[in-house]
Amino acid sequence: MMKTRLTEKAACLRRIMDNCHKIVTVTHTHPDGDAIGSSIGTACWCESLGKEVTCIFPDPVPDTISFIFRPERQAKCLTFSKQRAQAEKALEECDLIIALDFSEFSRTEEMAPILKASPKRKVQIDHHLNPAAEDFDLSVSEINISSASELSYQLLKILVGEGYGSFSMEACEAFMTGMTTDTNNFANSTLPSTLEMASELLEAGVNRDKIIDNLYWHYAEGRLRALGLLLKDKMTITPEGAAYMVLRDAEVKHFNLGDGDTEGFVNIPLAIEKVRMSIFLKEADGHFRVSIRSKKGTSASIFANKYFHGGGHENASGGKLHFPGDIPSPDEAEAFLAKVTEEYLSE
Ligand code: 5GP
Ligand code: MN
Repeated sequence: MMKTRLTEKAACLRRIMDNCHKIVTVTHTHPDGDAIGSSIGTACWCESLGKEVTCIFPDPVPDTISFIFRPERQAKCLTFSKQRAQAEKALEECDLIIALDFSEFSRTEEMAPILKASPKRKVQIDHHLNPAAEDFDLSVSEINISSASELSYQLLKILVGEGYGSFSMEACEAFMTGMTTDTNNFANSTLPSTLEMASELLEAGVNRDKIIDNLYWHYAEGRLRALGLLLKDKMTITPEGAAYMVLRDAEVKHFNLGDGDTEGFVNIPLAIEKVRMSIFLKEADGHFRVSIRSKKGTSASIFANKYFHGGGHENASGGKLHFPGDIPSPDEAEAFLAKVTEEYLSE
């Protein structure tokens, strides 16, 4: 089923590509491995067709993922929050915008009004629930797939099979990296197509050992010290089966944690048998960033949508908790979590 759908979408993408030369890729704020991997992999494929491509990230790529960038790639990437004028120029001059790994423009925050108002052609490649397909000339959206990186790979592979473009080693490594982070190294959302992709990329020569080393063995010491503190002293487990941990700004500073340094913390409490849903809050400017993971049978996306202005996937979602606004001050976060998890999980 999905293969037939993708074949039709690929034909449509080919027609769009034939009439474009300058392309911009965009992805969601706080870009993760999948957002970055799908952007770079897709950009490489466009370049193999002789197109000129700029990858725009709404805000900076975390240091933990920056290994993905080859030196020559860095020069073709822009960070909207730091290079706004250049990014706006690239969006004005392009003839096609490819949106990767997000369902609706609001996920790009500051970029959203510009993207929405842009008269350029727009293509979406995404794997989240509820895609805003009406905002795009072509929306390629599948939810039964590991990642946007896998979706880009499977879609573009059809055209590569027709001799339309090719995958460089840079593309293959980017797709492998994005799929690996979104599946939490093959722990979640791993389908036959995912393993097929991994197998093909290994055949193509991707050095997976190097990717694993870069992704999981290069953290600063502070990450593990902070995790130790959270698990020992700051993890609450409720009678309804929720686990939550709140990381405050002072702790972020104390442990010198960068953007990617808390990646994956939210998964850990799910190891406890009675925990059905895990919530991790990290304090930022005027809000907490919220990460939610759940086991099958409990919806993280409904919870994210109901209490945290967010969404995502059935078992992996995110959002925000504002102060003041949602709660009077950051000190109230734990009480708020106690209340909403009880309400939600007793339903
Ligand atoms: P993470 O917890 O890894 O930051 O995010 C998990 C999932 O939730 C990702 O698929 C991400 O796209 C989605 N997500 C994270 N933050 C938000 C948000 O603020 N709004 C929405 N709609 N989705 C989010
Ligand atoms: Mn993703």
